[in-house]
Formats: sequence, C-alpha cells, structure tokens
Amino acid sequence: RGRCAHFAPELLEDREHGEAVRARHLLERRLRAAVDRGGLSVQYQPVVALPSGQTTGVEALARWHDAELGWVAPDRFVPLAEDTGLIVDLGRWVLRTACREAAGWPVPASGSAPTVAVNVSPVQLVQRGFVDEVVAALTDSGLAPDRLCLEITETAAITDLAATAARLEELRGLGVRLALDDFGAGHSALSLLRHLPVDLVKIDRSFVERVTTDTADAVLVRLVVEAAHGLGRKVCAEGVETPDQARQLVALGCDSAQGWLFGRPADVPALAVPPARAEPDSVSGPAPLPLAG
Ligand code: C2E
Ligand code: MG
Ligand code: MG
Ligand code: MG
Repeated sequence: RGRCAHFAPELLEDREHGEAVRARHLLERRLRAAVDRGGLSVQYQPVVALPSGQTTGVEALARWHDAELGWVAPDRFVPLAEDTGLIVDLGRWVLRTACREAAGWPVPASGSAPTVAVNVSPVQLVQRGFVDEVVAALTDSGLAPDRLCLEITETAAITDLAATAARLEELRGLGVRLALDDFGAGHSALSLLRHLPVDLVKIDRSFVERVTTDTADAVLVRLVVEAAHGLGRKVCAEGVETPDQARQLVALGCDSAQGWLFGRPADVPALAVPPARAEPDSVSGPAPLPLAG
C-alpha cells in the first residue's frame, strides 16, 4: 500500500502483530481456496412490502464454511476479500449463482416474479469489465434485468461520486434496479440521494434498532423517507426484528422491510409458492403482516 515499515520480532508489540499477520494470511489462503474450489454458498433473506407483509423478493448473502475455521461471517471475509482483490471473483460467483437460481424460482399466479438483490463491492463496481459481467450473468441465466437489484453501500459510493454515478447510469441502462445499502451508517450526505441514480434506499439497521425507543432515530428515518420519496426513490428498512418496529416503520412511510421478523437468510428462499391446483377458495393470500397487538 505504498508504505514501508520495519518489523522487529523481538519486540512484544511486533510479535503480536506478527501473529495477527499470520492469522490473516491463513484466512486469506483458505478464502482463496474456497473461491477457487466451490467452497462458498449463498443464502436468501426475504424482502417484504409494507404494510402487506407480502414477500416481493430476496437478498442474496454470501456464506463461507471452512473445514477448520467453521462458519466465517461476511463481516470478516468480505473486507478481507476487498483488501486482497478476491472480492472480484467472489462477487462474480455470487452474482452468477443468484441470477441462475432466481431464474428458476416459481412465479406466483398473482403478483410479479420475485426480485433478487446482490451486494456489489466498490472494488467490483470500478472494475472495467463489471457492466459486461452483469450482462453475462443475465444472459447466461435468462433472468429478466428488472428482477435483479444491485446493492451499493453508501460509504463506498462517497469516494468518487461522479465516477460512481456514471457507472450506475451504465448499469441502469441494462434495466437492472439499484439500491443504496446501509444508508445512514457512514458519513452520509443527503446529496448522495440526489446524485446517485438509485431506485431504492435501504435504511441501516442501526436506525431501525432504536426506532421505537429513541425519538431522534424516528425523526431521522422520517427525514430519509421524505427526502427519498421526494426524489422518486423507494425506502426499505433493514434489520426489522419486532412487530413494534414494523408498525413504526409503516407509520414513518417505509415501502418495504427486511429482518428476522419476516425471515432469516436461508438456503432456499421462502417465496410464496402458488398452489399446484389453483382452486379459488383454497387459494390463501399472503401471510398478514404481524402488526396486530
Ligand atoms: P447487508 O448487505 O446490509 O446485509 C444485511 C445483513 O443484516 C446480513 O448480514 C443479514 O443476515 C443481517 N440481518 C438481516 N436481518 C437482520 C435482523 O433482523 N437482525 C440482525 N441483527 N441482522 C439482520 P450478513 O449476511 O452477515 O452480511 C453482512 C454484510 O456482508 C452485508 O450487509 C453485506 O454488506 C456483506 N455481504 C454479504 N454478502 C455479500 C456479497 O456477496 N458481496 C458483498 N460485496 N458483500 C456481501
Ligand atoms: Mg445488502
Ligand atoms: Mg445493509
Ligand atoms: Mg452492508
């Protein structure tokens, strides 16, 4: 990283540092092997419309199980993959897998085909060939472009706003949807909303966590909703765990939600499968949103 440092293993501080470096190298080696030899998987978490609670799509989340290390959380391996460049191959695999699997999901008799959201690292986004990779993933899977949503994290987008906006416009031209992820978690500026051509803003879980207990968080959620709607963007609330939070988010105007209340990430997405024989009075609607009480 354009920096030179002196390493002295006889010093305690450097010895500890040396151990951390070795542990990191081990993790990196094993992640590389997992990416190269099919050691990754994808789970899908439902995204529901508010206030109906009907599942409209899912978010694809990368999973890594290592024989020795066990399950390693994305919060650990994604930053490592970004630092080492492995995220390019990892992200491409997740994108292609999610598109391929989503293309095979049943389309409900009523309502539209479920969307699949895929997280895109800023490292991928700036790659020259990224747009072509998205085209290839769509073409090879046969997935309709408007069923794919690409999630870009807010913090990442800030570094080069103009370049990010230009790249997003290219992607938008393909007909895919775009979301600004973890909104409010970084050094957010509402101007991001203005300059990035996204369809959806995902409000970070940290706001949702206290939306029923801290007035300040409720005020900020309302503000984000108002700004987003005013600019023609939809709003999704992340990390909804309780019916109280869901009710409050409905009251604050959120369009959709995601969280353990509605469903945890799972290998097979929990999508409303239409009954095999559609008999009018045996057809039950979507599960009602657990807002009562
Ligand atoms: P994210 O994109 O904001 O995804 C939402 C995270 O919140 C997921 O964590 C999900 O399991 C968790 N979550 C959902 N509902 C709840 C809830 O009600 N309560 C709580 N406590 N947590 C909830 P996960 O799967 O550990 O992923 C963490 C982050 O890692 C993701 O945050 C995303 O930024 C990144 N990530 C995951 N998969 C990929 C990937 O394929 N590519 C890239 N670039 N990043 C990924
Ligand atoms: Mg996301
Ligand atoms: Mg998020
Ligand atoms: Mg995130």
